[in-house]
Parts: sequence; structure tokens; C-alpha cells
Amino acid sequence: KQTSPAQSEFYQAVEDVLESIEPIIEERPKYQKQGIIERLVEPERQIMFRVPWVDDEGNVQVNKGYRVEFNSALGPYKGGLRFHPSVNAGIIKFLGFEQIFKNALTGLPIGGGKGGANFDPKGKSDAEIMRFCQSFMTELHRHIGPNTDVPAGDIGVGTREIGYMFGQYKRLVNRFDGVLTGKSHLWGGSYVRKQATGYGAVYFAQCLLEDSNETIEGKRCLVSGSGNVAIYAIEKLYELGAKPVTCSDSSGTIYHEQGIDLDLLKRIKEENHGRLHEYLETHENAQYTSREDYPDDGHCVWRYKGDIAFPCATQNELTDKDAQALLENGCRYIVEGANMPSTQGAVDLFIESGVGYGPGKAANAGGVATSQLEMAQNASMLRWSFDEVDCKLQSIMRNIYRDSKRTAEEFNHPSNLVLGANIAGFRKVADAMLEQGVV
Ligand code: NDP
Repeated sequence: KQTSPAQSEFYQAVEDVLESIEPIIEERPKYQKQGIIERLVEPERQIMFRVPWVDDEGNVQVNKGYRVEFNSALGPYKGGLRFHPSVNAGIIKFLGFEQIFKNALTGLPIGGGKGGANFDPKGKSDAEIMRFCQSFMTELHRHIGPNTDVPAGDIGVGTREIGYMFGQYKRLVNRFDGVLTGKSHLWGGSYVRKQATGYGAVYFAQCLLEDSNETIEGKRCLVSGSGNVAIYAIEKLYELGAKPVTCSDSSGTIYHEQGIDLDLLKRIKEENHGRLHEYLETHENAQYTSREDYPDDGHCVWRYKGDIAFPCATQNELTDKDAQALLENGCRYIVEGANMPSTQGAVDLFIESGVGYGPGKAANAGGVATSQLEMAQNASMLRWSFDEVDCKLQSIMRNIYRDSKRTAEEFNHPSNLVLGANIAGFRKVADAMLEQGVV
């Protein structure tokens, strides 16, 4: 029952899970008797706070900060922080809710949480970003800890922001704790964390394709986004011999028939925090479509021809009409790097059509899994090599795929990985909650 109708993304995420888990709820009435669902949809704790900071002109600015500690049945709350003007309580709740099942699917001991602020990092100076991060952490620090709640990055929060927040945390508590993941390699970060979500999504795609006796090599790929997830999905696609031909930001889309120039993309986005239209200054033969010229009913990335689509930007960026266009153009696999990037109608179409569909909850879990590997390294004061972490990531992604697939088969929907991933994640959390009593 919807008690807060403004939180549409949260309800979308909850409906997706509740619909999928119907068969296991019927099979195990204990879940219902013990109020597992009623407890699961209510966060254990939600924190909302004021984030005041001073801009470069000396004006006081105020943003809203959030941390939703959703479920700790399997371990400390774990999930990223998002800095984006669209952030509100409903978005943080949807992301926190998804995180519970995603984290369970990794098989690692981590609960679910999420946080962020309605702060827009675009156009801000480095000093403004630092002051904002320090103010945000000044409140957040009293709610987190290496065994309590361990935030990471998400949209608008990368190594730079994690660095500023960690510095402030350390200053406030006078301890060098593994309290944030996604840290720099120089002081406690794990190798592969930066690459993990993008690489992980491609490893997941490999598993999907292998099941149909296909490989990624030679495939034309449509990627949306141009941030952390998109860049490293593109990097791994090239390593495996595929050809990514698109990327996008919130202002427009690049289509480059020769394949996206990855070094240039990194320079524009990672080094200069710039805009994607700058790509044309180096590649006149690429096409740039500005957001104003997108089709009214969708996103221009999904109107190109491709074998595999990787939505890697944001929620609901792939509409019902986009899904239809992808299928009509012969796209055979959709693997989600972003969280809930496809509308419910698009997901239904993918499932009905029988294309290979990897939902974000499973396909983008490589990031949080590697964050947990960072926690393990911090706790043991050890550091593993790039190859060692990458190997673990590959094996985790393979296990997530197998677990989702096997569960989908067990419940007689062999190719429905949405159902498989939701039930597999739910079962682990629900059983842990049963064993821990009514709390
Ligand atoms: P980044 O901030 O690095 O990049 C986000 C990209 O998406 C940018 O290109 C951004 O464009 C674009 N974008 C963001 N919001 C919108 C919007 N409202 N409309 C259109 N484009 C938008 O974030 P990440 O790459 O880290 O995250 C991307 C997605 O992956 C998110 O859904 C996130 O929750 C999910 N994810 C991330 C993980 C991680 O490890 N980073 C882990 C698991 C999931 P612009 O620069 O113009 O804003």
C-alpha cells in the first residue's frame, strides 16, 4: 500500500521485488507470519540533515543530506552516496532498498544502505566541492563506522569527494578507520574498485552470452552515461574485442561509428570534469545529439543499432519506446550498469521477448562487492594486487549469474533473471531476519 505517493521510484523498486517473490512467499508462509515484508520495506533508520557551506563568493548555501540505513541483517549497512540535484528521500530509499538484495546476491556479509545530497557538483570549484564534502561529513560521521555503516561513491561522488570526506572523518574521530570505500590507492583504497562496476557488468554479460554459445568479441555495444560505470564498461568491452559506439551525459549523446575514443573520454570526464560535446573538437566525424533533440518518448542512445545495450547513467533512462526500438533494431542483450535504468514497461518487454536481460541488481553488483573486498583489506591491514582483486571480482560476478539463473530455474522461469535475482537475494536476507528474531 502506498503511504507516501511522492516516492515513485521507491514504489517502482518495491513492486518489482514483491511481484518476483510471490512464489517463494506462497511456498514459505513463515515469511508472512513473521512480518518479513512489512519489516523489509521500512528502513531501520533514516537520517536527514542540513548541509551548510560557503561558496567562492562568500554566500552561504544550504543543501539537504540523507543517509538511509535500510537493512543490517547480513552485515554493516553498505551503499554509495549520490550528489545530484535530483536527489530526494524517495530516490535514496529506492537505491537503499535495491542495495539490500544486490548486496545479499554478492554472497558477502554486507547490509543495505544509501545516502547523498541534492548538491550539484557541476560548475563548482575544487574548493567548493571540498567545503561541501567537509560539511556533509561533519554530520554524517556520527552515524557511520567500519562495523556500522560504510558508505562509498555513486553519481557525483568519486575518488576526489571520498578523499575530502575521509579527511574530515579522520579529523573528527582521530582514527584511520576503513569507514568509506572507493578511497585512493595511496591510502587504503583497493585496486579495481574504480573499474569494478563497469568491468563487473561486462563480466556478467559474458556469462549471459556464454549460455547462448556466443562471445562478446566483435559485438557492437550501445553504452549510456560517461561516468565511472560507463567508462570502465567501455574499457573492458575493448579489452574483450567488442566495439562500443555510444556514450552520453545529461546534456547529449555521442555516436562514433569507429568506436568511442576511450582516452579522450577519460580526459574530458575524469581529468577535466568537462562536457561530452567537447568530444567533437577531436573527432569531427562523430555525431553529437543534444538532449533537446532526443525523441519525445525516450533517449537517443537506444535508437542506434547494437547487439548489446549497457544502460550506465541513471534510473528510468530507458523507456518502453526505447525498449521497443532496441528490439526492432535486433539488440539481443541488455545488461544494466546503472540502478533501475529501465522503466517497468521496458523490463516487461525484455522479459516477454526472451532477449538476454541482466537486471542492475545483479549485473552492477561488482562495485559493491569490490567495496567489501576493500573493507576486508582494510580490516586485515593487507593489500591485494590488481590481478588478485580482478580475479575475485570475476568469480563473484559468475556466482551472482549462476545463483540468479539457478533460482529462476528452481521457480520455473528459467530465463527470467529478474525473478531469479530477486528471490535469491530476498531468501538470504529473509532467512537471516528470521534467525535474528523480530527486530
Ligand atoms: P557518475 O557520476 O560517474 O556518472 C553518471 C553519468 O550518468 C554521467 O555521465 C551523468 O551525466 C549521467 N547522468 C546522471 N544523472 C543523469 C540524469 N538525470 N539524466 C541523464 N544523465 C545523467 O556516476 P556512476 O557512473 O558512478 O553511476 C552511474 C549509475 O550506476 C547510477 O545509476 C549508479 O547508481 C549506478 N551504480 C554505480 C556504482 C559505482 O560503483 N559507481 C555501483 C552500482 C551502481 P552528467 O555528467 O551530465 O551528470
